[in-house]
Amino acid sequence: MLLPTSAYSPNKELGGEILKRLNIQVEQYDPLLGAGIEQLIRPDTALIWCESPGSITMEIQDVPAIVTAAHARGVPVALDNTYAAGVLFDAFSHGVDVSMQALTKYVGGHSDLLLGSVSVGDEATYTRVGDTQRQLGMAVSPDDCSLALRGLQTLAVRLDALQRSTLAVAAWLAERPEIRSLRHPAFPGCPGHAVWERDFTGSASVFSVIFSPRYSPEQVNSFVDSLQLFRIGWSWGGVTSLAMAYPSLRRLEENSRAALSGSTLVWRILPT
Ligand SMILES: *Cc1c(COP(=O)(O)O)cnc(C)c1O
Repeated sequence: MLLPTSAYSPNKELGGEILKRLNIQVEQYDPLLGAGIEQLIRPDTALIWCESPGSITMEIQDVPAIVTAAHARGVPVALDNTYAAGVLFDAFSHGVDVSMQALTKYVGGHSDLLLGSVSVGDEATYTRVGDTQRQLGMAVSPDDCSLALRGLQTLAVRLDALQRSTLAVAAWLAERPEIRSLRHPAFPGCPGHAVWERDFTGSASVFSVIFSPRYSPEQVNSFVDSLQLFRIGWSWGGVTSLAMAYPSLRRLEENSRAALSGSTLVWRILPT
């Protein structure tokens, strides 16, 4: 299995721990590889995982190029489509075989639901994934499903408001001298921005800023502690604006073509 270095950490842990114990080899790849993924596909590659934009580092992947290379070798492609809420990027029209999202985030929308979805584009995958899900006992409660269905009814207005508020905050931060760079898919400095423009119909409410190296991780932490409107929190897509500091992000430095240093701050904006 191939997994981007920008993947959500628990997905990487699943690959590095449980799948490894099951003798499945997981190789991490540069999320910006695009068609170059071809070089990494082996005769026994069973799955290519994508996540676009990536967690924290926000690289937008050329999913159609990855799909073309994968399908030429008979390898299915799965996408973590949580950022796009399943709607700002149409996974199936871009050739993805399996689209997964944390309904916990935008679909739930109120920080009171822990739920995920796996959607597939064809009957054969449905049977295979559906049977596996049932055999593993991953059933969900009707109450949780009703919260997800309720959330769907306001998803469009919430996403619209989230996009607008987030663009305003990001544009303000982009002009600040304390900020070294901004990673928001709708801004040109974001790795893969041109792909976002081509493939996405909008942006959501999570983005990162990298502070100037003149600020220490301690300073960034005390900045986060001093914020009045933003709480500290891991999840997002709910009714609270959040910020989260990532003091040392080795993979940011390893991944960037232009080496980056400095603390990263991830903003998760509320819809109003
Ligand atoms: C939050 C998140 C998940 C999983 O979220 P849960 O809180 O376990 O529902 C998966 N992928 C991405 C990219 C996420 O941000």
